[in-house]
Amino acid sequence: MKLYSTNNKNLSVDFETAVFNSLPADKGLYMPTFFPQIDKEVMANWDRKSFPEIAFDMAYALLKDDISAEDLKTIVDETVNFEAPLHQLERDVYILELFHGPSLAFKDFGGRFMSRIMAHFLKKEKKEIQILVATSGDTGGAVALGFLNIPGIKVTILYPKGKVSATQELQLTTNGNNIEAIAIDGTFDDCQALVKTAFHDKELNEKLNLTSANSINISRLIPQMFYYANSYARLKDNYENIIFVTPSGNFGNIAAGIMAYKMGIPITRFIAATNSNDVVPEYLETGIYKARPSIQTLANAMDVGNPSNFVRVLDMFDNDLELLKTKLTGYSYTDEEIKSAIYYVYNTHSYVICPHTATGCLAVTSDKLLNPDQEKTAYVVLATAHPCKFPEVFEELRIPFDEPEQVAQLYKKEHKSLEMKNSFEDFKKYLIG
Ligand SMILES: *Cc1c(COP(=O)(O)O)cnc(C)c1O
Repeated sequence: MKLYSTNNKNLSVDFETAVFNSLPADKGLYMPTFFPQIDKEVMANWDRKSFPEIAFDMAYALLKDDISAEDLKTIVDETVNFEAPLHQLERDVYILELFHGPSLAFKDFGGRFMSRIMAHFLKKEKKEIQILVATSGDTGGAVALGFLNIPGIKVTILYPKGKVSATQELQLTTNGNNIEAIAIDGTFDDCQALVKTAFHDKELNEKLNLTSANSINISRLIPQMFYYANSYARLKDNYENIIFVTPSGNFGNIAAGIMAYKMGIPITRFIAATNSNDVVPEYLETGIYKARPSIQTLANAMDVGNPSNFVRVLDMFDNDLELLKTKLTGYSYTDEEIKSAIYYVYNTHSYVICPHTATGCLAVTSDKLLNPDQEKTAYVVLATAHPCKFPEVFEELRIPFDEPEQVAQLYKKEHKSLEMKNSFEDFKKYLIG
């Protein structure tokens, strides 16, 4: 696979370079120069294939020139070693449960795939790398658990102090070994800015092999295409139209869905559901893109004021807003609406959804009102995290939720994090050591 920069289509780098550089020097984002098409006959047989087999079909189409089929199969099988089942909520509405991995959020797919891709390339080069990652909550846990004890890779995770849930914080701070967590006195955007500045700092780059594990890294997005493809495979015989509803913050997850569509998966439409950080829904409505500081909400993994991956979404529609609007709709919701959706879904279906997933369920209702007469159409809401990661919300609503055993274990472990001001000078000093 060759990749260009969204700022320079004449650039052409290979996959390994894109994985370790993370960002092109021109500050665009890497995108595949073209999307290989999955054969119609191959897709016709997908209902008889397993999730890992479908994932391999996608990965192989993209990466067959970069990684041998045998190695790629191992990487895909290790990545997709937990289920992503569809739970039918009501007629024609499904919840795609993406929270059965080690950190209980969809980001496990990216964390597991990326760590194994990097380990694959590092094996032959024998070099050490340092991963920097900013997290608004869930990225950190997925990256920490994905990279824990991978030799030759040190991971530093920056998170906004006091702005992630207790469970999320424990997932970041209880690992030790090659994983270090830093609590920054600031917002997620501040953490992301510190990481971005580090990547563009000449001195740091001379001294360290810095790499990003944020969703700006293309290797995070590739495995996120897999579950869109797998859901299509499970539903294709019963529906003519499939609409994916993706709770969105940095817009990596929805970008991956659109990449799957670009590879030929017949997806009718995408809906981006956001919390009050509504830059994209506003842009789709007004044509004006106005980045702003993030607002803290109950769906904290989506508290993003200037979504990095949206340029990828635009790029796939040639930066043509009218064209984009034929495939992408956006809706945003307040914390009050999120709480009432959690409550409603629990009361009517005895099913507990996390605050992020709640924006997706709300979007189904909004979208059905605007499009009342759709036939043979399935809505698939991506359930991005397990509800137990957000205990505060459910205690307030008095809704009981299950806690998987791995969460109970976290509370027994020793935890450690470094506190730091929102200062690039301090961060740089820490990195140089
Ligand atoms: C990261 C995350 C999101 C947002 O995903 P993006 O790819 O950043 O749009 C939504 N929900 C949860 C639970 C997350 O962890």
